[in-house]
Amino acid sequence: MDDQQKQKVTAYVNTAYAAALHTSTQLAAGKIAETKARLASQGAILSGRTVHEIAKIQGDHINSLVQARADALLDAYELYSAEIDDEILADVKTLRATLVSHLPASQECGLPPTVPGFQLFPQLLETNTGAIVNLVWCQIEQRKAFPKFKRRDSDRVFEELAIQEARRSVAEDQRAHPRVGAVVVKDGRVVSQAHRGETPKCHAEFIALEGKLADDLVAGATVYTTLEPCTTRNHPKIPCAQRLIERRVARVFIGMLDPNPDIQGFGNRALNEAGIETQFFPRDLQNQIEDLNRDFIRAQKDKPPRASVVPPKPRSEPEANPKIAEIIKHKGKTVTVFNRQKHGHGYLEGYWPNGAVVVDCTPLWVELQDPAAKNQQTFSLDNVEVTFDSEKKRLKLTVYR
Ligand SMILES: [Zn+2]
Repeated sequence: MDDQQKQKVTAYVNTAYAAALHTSTQLAAGKIAETKARLASQGAILSGRTVHEIAKIQGDHINSLVQARADALLDAYELYSAEIDDEILADVKTLRATLVSHLPASQECGLPPTVPGFQLFPQLLETNTGAIVNLVWCQIEQRKAFPKFKRRDSDRVFEELAIQEARRSVAEDQRAHPRVGAVVVKDGRVVSQAHRGETPKCHAEFIALEGKLADDLVAGATVYTTLEPCTTRNHPKIPCAQRLIERRVARVFIGMLDPNPDIQGFGNRALNEAGIETQFFPRDLQNQIEDLNRDFIRAQKDKPPRASVVPPKPRSEPEANPKIAEIIKHKGKTVTVFNRQKHGHGYLEGYWPNGAVVVDCTPLWVELQDPAAKNQQTFSLDNVEVTFDSEKKRLKLTVYR
């Protein structure tokens, strides 16, 4: 693989992985919140079952990320004409190992390290993700024998036609806009072609599909577009990716990924998820398109990276429970902690000498940090009573054990 191929493969894979990470992290966080709420309602808080169920969800999460990375690598190697080799397997092996070893200590883990049975969690993750590398190995061998993307000679003719259209684009104002052309082909014939701004302020795919083929059946057609179809537009405009999906086109050839960080990779992924096959123009044509759009690309590079790549934190629902709401309000603040531990027929009682800082509170547990001790301590929310320490003028948590 030469340097230019390497760069393009890396960019493609990173973009696809960021999109997969965003989707899968949200999905896992939602499932974890659901599971915790269910276990809480069954009184199975902080049990070994919690560890097993969350390890299952997180195992699926890791598997989906490894699979997404393998898919992206295989596609990118093929699309940029690099020979499929053992590097792909090495890459996904490393990814799996990294995720398995880092997840237990991360914020996204979903379990506090003090939950009983937590020591089993890393081992369970290991087991739940044990098969994925072998599966990817099979996919690599299969892909070597049966490439996914096959090009026809006519593809290049239509791609060049789309580039010709792109050159005719009309900008709607003084800002840098992409120059985009789109060509719709059905049964080997061009049925529509358009460029951006041909109808004022409209995207090329929109004009080609809705402007010129509103009443025609385009299901099964192939669309050649010089820019990745958009996934966001101001309401009530419908993004082009969604239009392509609704019109049930079969294949989309893309000239370049959108350099806009809010769209990059998402358009391609949205089409794939809807079962539409996507491919890229050959490298020499991609270079032409990038050259045609260099002002737009430069303008997008100065944009901040999209916030959505940062994995969202699992949601807790403080508003549903006044006890959680009260404790959450004191997150990061020092509170008084009073211990009541059953002993024989009575209690062993005592204050934590330095109080504690509230780290977090979920529908299941409260996490506290004793300023003197290094480790955080977790208590089942059911065993914690919230009152007010009138002497020290701060929240008081009584912990029953
Ligand atoms: Zn669009």
